Order: sequence, then C-alpha cells, then structure tokens
Amino acid sequence: MKLIGAHVSAAGGVFNAPQNAANIGANAFALFTKNQRQWVAKPLEEDTILAFKARCQQYGFSPDAILPHDSYLINLGAPETEKLEKSRNAFIDEMQRCRQLGLTLLNFHPGSHLKKISERDCLALIAESINLAHQEVPGVVAVIENTAGQGSNLGWRFEHLAEIIEQVEDKTRVGVCIDTCHTFAAGYDLRTEAATEATFAQFDQVVGMNYLRGMHLNDSKGGLGSRLDRHHSLGEGEIGWDCFRFLMQDQRFDGIPLVLETINPEIWQQEINTLRSFVPQ
Ligand SMILES: [Zn+2]
Ligand SMILES: [Zn+2]
Repeated sequence: MKLIGAHVSAAGGVFNAPQNAANIGANAFALFTKNQRQWVAKPLEEDTILAFKARCQQYGFSPDAILPHDSYLINLGAPETEKLEKSRNAFIDEMQRCRQLGLTLLNFHPGSHLKKISERDCLALIAESINLAHQEVPGVVAVIENTAGQGSNLGWRFEHLAEIIEQVEDKTRVGVCIDTCHTFAAGYDLRTEAATEATFAQFDQVVGMNYLRGMHLNDSKGGLGSRLDRHHSLGEGEIGWDCFRFLMQDQRFDGIPLVLETINPEIWQQEINTLRSFVPQ
C-alpha cells in the first residue's frame, strides 16, 4: 500500500499533527517533535505523549507511516568540536523524543563540512554521530536525507550516503530518505519515467533499495544539477508529473512514508488525490 501524506503542522502540540494529516486525506505524515529553529525544547509531557499515541491510533497512523524530521540547526558533521557536541546532544534528544512518542524513524540532513574539513572526514563524523546516538537510544532508525548539495552540504551524491552507511555499526538502524527535489537539483534526472527508473537503478547500485525508508515528494524550482533547494508544487516545477506517476506505479515504494513538502499546503489534499489516482488498482 502507498503511504502518502505531507509534513504537517504540530503547532499547539505534537498531538495536533495526526489530525492535521487526517484532514487532508493522508495515510502518512511528517512532523517536527520540537521547534525546528531552536536548540533546546522542554521535555515532552506524559499527557502530550499519551494524546499523540491516542490520536495516531484513532486515525490509523502506524509508526511505519510517520517520518519525524529533526531540527535544521543540527550539523552531525560539524568541523568544530563545540558545535559538533551540541549537535550530537540535540540529535540524541530528538531520538529520545521519537522513542517516547513510539516512533521508529528520524529523518535528518547529514551535515556540512563548511569548507573546514574534507568530505571524507565530514562523512566519517556523521557516521560516528549516528553510532553515538544508537548507543544512547534504542529502537529508532536514523534516516539520512539526500540533499540538493547547496553550499557545503554533503549527502547530495548517492556515494556520500553509501560512505556514511558503510561506517555505521548497526546497519539495521540506518536508512535513507530520498527527496525528489534534492535528487534532481543534485544532478540526477527525474523528468521522464525512463529517467526516474535509471536514477533509482543507480541508487540501488550505489546505496541499495533496502535502505530506502521514506521519501519527500517535491517538484523543483531549480533546474537539473542546479544544487538549489527550492521546492515546488507537484507538476509545477522542472521535474513534472512523470516522476511521481512512476513512483506510484512501482511497488518498491510501497509501505514507506511518501511525504509532500510542497510549497502550497492549500493543495496538499489535491496533490495526494492525484498521486493516488496513479496507483494501479
Ligand atoms: Zn526533504
Ligand atoms: Zn528541501
């Protein structure tokens, strides 16, 4: 089954996210479990945790269909010790929050070398950060998101993702989230069904489809290889509908959260309906 949703608001409390997702006809969703622009958040209260779990059950969202996203401030490959420590602690806190909420996935952007260390060293720091988090928190899969390759962000080449995974000790708790906008901006063509098929064949060869634990479905304002992280509504950008039709018709994308981060929440329901219309009956 295709699990399709959007990155919904958790304003007022995380327990509002399942309802916001159900309101747009989603059977999957993403959320921030804390303010994504702040380092520290107050711990989740017991009432909040219980309310979140109850609503997920009420609307039929299993942990497989929920892809929490970590704070944008975290850089698990930070070259400077102080920033790295701060990031690692914040990441462990994010994992703990997921665990408390009964969630099993945590989506994050790998990190940036800030032109101060080599790509190789930065990727090794990211892998070490994941290993440290695994030691602290059981039961949560670290889901690395591929990036558009803006600035000094790593993770835009499939080889970067493979190099991180290679150095993670517990391979059962590491996965990948492929964002279609980022993939395209990084230089992998998705403009036709054949191009999409070829891009995922390359992903399978370099990383392995078995590591795919979620996707972000976004069209792109930037062109192929632009290295720009600019999302667009589905079909409105440089990618177009063929890619999304391909994904809906291919069973390798069943059972993982497929999450819209497109720019107009007003049409999320419509985008979900269009995606569903492509799924073979
Ligand atoms: Zn994304
Ligand atoms: Zn993005």
